[in-house]
Amino acid sequence: MINKLFKFFMVLALWTSMTVHLYAFVENEPQKVSIPTSYPLPANKNNVQTVRVLLSKGVTAGTLSLNSLCRVTTIETNEPLEEITREKKPTIVPTYSGLRVGNVPFKIYGIRIKPRGRTFVFDGGKYRGDLVVIRERDMTLTFINYINLEEYLKGVLPKEVSPEWDLAALKAQAIASRTYALFQELSKQNKDYSLEKTVASQMYGGINSETAITTQAVNDTRGKILLYNNEIFPAYFHAACGGHTTRCDTVWNVTPHPSLKGVADPFCKRFKHYSWKWHATKDEIQNSLKNYGINTKSIVAIKWGEKDTSGRVTEFFVHSKNPPLRLNSNTFRLALGPQNVRSTKISSITEENNTYFFKGFGWGHGVGLCQWGAKAMADEGMTHTKILQYYFPKSWIVNVY
Ligand SMILES: [Zn+2]
Repeated sequence: MINKLFKFFMVLALWTSMTVHLYAFVENEPQKVSIPTSYPLPANKNNVQTVRVLLSKGVTAGTLSLNSLCRVTTIETNEPLEEITREKKPTIVPTYSGLRVGNVPFKIYGIRIKPRGRTFVFDGGKYRGDLVVIRERDMTLTFINYINLEEYLKGVLPKEVSPEWDLAALKAQAIASRTYALFQELSKQNKDYSLEKTVASQMYGGINSETAITTQAVNDTRGKILLYNNEIFPAYFHAACGGHTTRCDTVWNVTPHPSLKGVADPFCKRFKHYSWKWHATKDEIQNSLKNYGINTKSIVAIKWGEKDTSGRVTEFFVHSKNPPLRLNSNTFRLALGPQNVRSTKISSITEENNTYFFKGFGWGHGVGLCQWGAKAMADEGMTHTKILQYYFPKSWIVNVY
């Protein structure tokens, strides 16, 4: 009887622990839901005309240079707080109860500075629009440029493409950049900002980078974006595809999209960014991986797994004394440096005297518009519509305002 009771409690205990374990496991399972690649356009067109670009964050001060009077308001509700006239170059610093602009204290954790002249200089860069300042809980400041989408694009285009390119290529880039920015704004409405001024989103240099011809490309395409099936999608672009663009869902954890599925591209072949070479010693590679949080001991081989239909490697295997390390190809590329391993369209990896030699095609992630391909198509007399419909199949250009 005791034996039976013992067995009963053992089974009960085991069952309970399994249940608890199973529950915990389900609770902790990483979410595999992929990020959406399409959104319907908002009914109110006023909601699509301002973007929020991060200028700097995690800092304890920022310097503003003003050539006009500024109104300071709350961020969203535009409630007037103060006018800044007292200093020409106020420094903005966090305080315990909020923040301070020059001598003017604000007992609030976020303000919007609106220059009457509609431009301001922040930490040496000249920008249009408003400057939003947020005092974070850790007593650092976040600076965000709230700017009209069209004015923002004037500072993006010259940083992304050469003003010397044919106008058709510049107009194609303007529409892709506008679509991309608007998609980011719609998908990040509950975040403090939607775009960064680096390659993390698209390059943005403010007023100092603007040129007449790139501004013309923005003005000529005013309000034009790409839609697929009446919905907006992230119109990604990259420098050169190296012969074939790729599917968005093989590069990132995003849902597949019919306009981002990869096309053969004979156009970028004639340019220098079509192919690349790079080499590094085993130690250098190990250190780069380590700095990226990937530990490996004494590499003996680097191999790739499968390739997708565009010829891009989907995963790499780093062999060492330990079991082989399996790395997502995009992670591997970012860890070794995207300027070094310029693409995942690898053609060979060889080893000689403890040095690895990489060869490949293209520059960038390979999704969406190939900028050098677009340049070549424009040189051949193709219109911006033709270029965009080639790289974003089944998409349509529409006026959003
Ligand atoms: Zn290409």
